Amino acid sequence: MILRHRERQPGNSPTNKRMKNVRKELFQKTGTYTTINEIWTKNEKGVISPKISDFLWKLCHNKHKVGTWFLRIKGWEDRAHCKCGKLETMNHILIECPLNQGRAIWNYMKEEWEQNLSKTSWLKPTIELIRGLGSIQLKNKPRWMNEAYIERTAEAIWMIWTLRNNRLFNKKVIPERPAIKMLKEALRRQNGPI
Ligand SMILES: [Zn+2]
Repeated sequence: MILRHRERQPGNSPTNKRMKNVRKELFQKTGTYTTINEIWTKNEKGVISPKISDFLWKLCHNKHKVGTWFLRIKGWEDRAHCKCGKLETMNHILIECPLNQGRAIWNYMKEEWEQNLSKTSWLKPTIELIRGLGSIQLKNKPRWMNEAYIERTAEAIWMIWTLRNNRLFNKKVIPERPAIKMLKEALRRQNGPI
């Protein structure tokens, strides 16, 4: 079950500090001024699906039990590292790790966006922008284009996360080409049958 409208932890909590960085990044990268409350709300509403909304909520609270989470458990510290050798954080998984096909996926997203969809430059997601995904407002772009950016980015994030989990828990490594094919299919499904 997906829980919505959950606690937001105001004040000086680590989550709130994280959200302040999200707000700052949204301003620096897109020129949009927003509030932390708005960021929470927009991640729960609009074009973000319940599945991604739930993922973003956990991401904002740092609740995903990935590598660094195991540093808290005695005897399990060796699980903190990704197979590529780096400490496994959500930033590592979604942006940096070469094993989850993130590089290929983000390159594909940029190319499609710049050459076929918007013909304007792609806003490269950072972990902060991903946390504030629902609040991204591309400069001087129509609403449909903005929504397309959010929906497509959500799909790419989900794909990378799925590839990572398959690799880790099902020992199934999906190479670059089939991974891009899966992403294309997911993006097509999102737009409905044409
Ligand atoms: Zn890695």
